[in-house]
Order: sequence, then C-alpha cells, then structure tokens
Amino acid sequence: MQLDDHAEELASALGVDKEEVKRDLENLVQYSVPLDEAKQSIRRKHGGGGGGGGAPSTKDVADITPDDSSVNVTATVLTVGTRTIRYQGDDITIREGELADATGKVSYTSWQDFGFEAGDSVTIGNANIREWDGKPELNLNDSSTVAMASEEIAVDYPVGGDADLLELEPGDRGRNVEVRVLEVEERTIDGRDGQTDILSGVLGDESARLPFTDWNPHAEIEEGASLRIEDVYIREFRGVPSVNLSEFTTVTELASPVDVNDSAPRLGVRDAVDSGGMFDVEVVGSLLAVRDGSGLIERCPECARVIQNGQCRSHGAVEGEDDLRVKGILDDGSDTVTVVLDADLTEAVYGGDVTDAKEAARDAMDKEVVADAIREEIVGREFRVRGSLSVDEYGANLDADTFDESDDDPADRARELLAVVSTQEVEA
Ligand SMILES: [Zn+2]
Repeated sequence: MQLDDHAEELASALGVDKEEVKRDLENLVQYSVPLDEAKQSIRRKHGGGGGGGGAPSTKDVADITPDDSSVNVTATVLTVGTRTIRYQGDDITIREGELADATGKVSYTSWQDFGFEAGDSVTIGNANIREWDGKPELNLNDSSTVAMASEEIAVDYPVGGDADLLELEPGDRGRNVEVRVLEVEERTIDGRDGQTDILSGVLGDESARLPFTDWNPHAEIEEGASLRIEDVYIREFRGVPSVNLSEFTTVTELASPVDVNDSAPRLGVRDAVDSGGMFDVEVVGSLLAVRDGSGLIERCPECARVIQNGQCRSHGAVEGEDDLRVKGILDDGSDTVTVVLDADLTEAVYGGDVTDAKEAARDAMDKEVVADAIREEIVGREFRVRGSLSVDEYGANLDADTFDESDDDPADRARELLAVVSTQEVEA
C-alpha cells in the first residue's frame, strides 16, 4: 500500500482531512518513524485512541496475529532489555524483550518505562500489534496500561535472559552472558554524534565464540577477563550473530575464570547452514569441486573485490593486484557449502606463493593452470574446515581459518550422519 492509500484509509477512519493526515504521515516517515507508529500517533492526535478497529480484545499469546490492531494480554515477562534509539530527532529509551503465557511467547517493545521486570506477571491493556519479520510484536505506548496480574502466570520458557553464546540469535534482547574476553580492540567510528570510541572483539564460553561491539566502552572489558555481562542485544553482523553492549549494559568481573572451548562446535553442513550463520564452526566433508574464480586472481586496489578483465564493478578500470584464493564446494552428504581459502591457506595447498603462481601462469600462457594444480591437490579428498559461516541469498560461505585433511574414518562419519538423519526423520 502506498503512503497515499494509508493516508486515505486513516483519514476516512478518523473522519478528518486527508491532506492533513498525509502531510503528518510524510513528516513522521521522513524521520524514520515506522509506518505503524506514525499511523498510531496520528490516530492519537485526532483522539482515535488505541487500535484502528475498535476496542482491544483479550487474547492468549498464541492467538495474537499481525492482523490484530490491539489486544489485552496477561503474561509473564521473560526478558527486559533497555536501549536508546533516536526517534523524531530525540533520544528515547525503550524497553524490549519477550513475554509468555501457557500458550506461547511474543516479543514486545515498550516506548515508556512501565517498571516491570523479568519474572513479573502482568496484565497489559491496549497493546498495539505490529508485524515484525512476519510475526506479531506488542507495542506498548502511552495509550497502553500495565498492571500486576492477579495471579502468577506459569510459563515453559526460561525467565531472566541468561544464555550460552551458542543459543543467541539476531533479534534477541535483554540477554545475559558469562564469558571470557578473547580479543578486544579500540576503534574510532563516525557515529550519529560524530567521532565515537567503541570496543570490538571476540567473546567465548564453553559453547561458542561470538564477535561483540561495546558502543559505550566498559573499563572491565579487557583481554582475558572473565565477566558476567547483563542486558546485551544481538544483531546480525556479516551474516553471524554479534553481541552488542550499550550504556545500559552492566559488566561484573567473575571470581572464577570462564572455561572456553578451544575447539569450534562441530556441525553437519545442513545444520550449520540452517542456523543462518555461525562465527566459529567446524564441518567435515569431501571437496567436490574447485569453483571458477579460484587460483590466481586479481583484486581491485581500492575495495579488494575480485575483478574480471581489469574492471571493478564499483571503480571501473583499475590496475588489479594479484592474489591467491580457493572457492571449493564441500559436501558432507547433508548439504554443501562453499569453503573460501585466503592467500595463506591457498599457498599451503598449492605449494607456492603468488610469485610461483604467476611464473606458472606465464609459462603456460594460461592463468587457469594454477586453479588446475589446486584441483589436482584437493578435489575428492576429505577435509576438516573451521571458520566463519555466513549465509545469504547467494548461498553459504565458510571463510576458513583452518583447512586440514580429515583423519576421520569415512565409514564412521557415514554412520554418524545416518544417525543424525534418522533422528531428524523421527522428529519430523
Ligand atoms: Zn573496486
């Protein structure tokens, strides 16, 4: 629906002038106010109150759909995250997290502080519903009410937000982790308020490693520190979940060090790809093929993208820089993934560096001899690959940190895989 249609619909529902509604709507949307919020605020301006369709109905969590305009619901608060966002030019502190009852759970965003905490059972009146990622989300604003529920609502979900790194998913809010800081560096970025110092690096626990960003540097974040970090939110960064610390995040040193698993979680390719992206994962499979764009390649000196015939997609005709890489298709029987080897790993499998590769290409008067030599070395063999997996619309890429010939007995691996497949069949 176009903005114009929204304005028309809203104006006729409110019985006011369409041009005025359209002007207000354009104004709000221009300030990046989500459309649903903008419509809501215009309804309030004209005394339209809560939802678009009359009085809110009382619902179980599982029965709430994105088609509801507003609902009353009684539920237990699972998590409360706090964050500041810029809204119509002002910084507004919002609360966000999840609520649940016996039937299911749902995300919420609260535009003001109603004072509830994780574990509280509350009755919410007139929560607006908006659609987020195809699912309903509760929006609590100044036309909503929150009261303690008359009785405690039992739920099947963990309350409070504690999580292992492996469990975290983009969109999670108000989470708490106990981790060791594995890497940290200070960076200066151009933020919305000019130059800002931030910290970024890698956190680890027994389950996994994840990248993090601390937007409001906490002094306790030092390499090697074991910490309890409360109220973080999770975003997707380069296809993997990333832990974000804000000014509302609290960091406390732990008395005993957090154990970090030196090995990456080992997954079947299908499970790894289905997870949507992992910062650190290990898969084992056989190398089916070496893809085009492997071997001796040229990169744009400006953006480091791989270029074809001296042409960069962003920078036009450029003097390319020689580099080595491999894009190989790894298959473990459950699915395939493109494994990407950087120059160092490629040198190791090729048995030579860029200079050797250029010499070979010159002698043969064909660059392809480098990729062919690599094919000879690795196609048909089994490899154990550890690295960072990103999944997007172009497919699944595993940027390898290590690439070693597998010493697994293939028969064992086949049995393992069969066991996994039959469990999945039972579940289905
Ligand atoms: Zn370029």
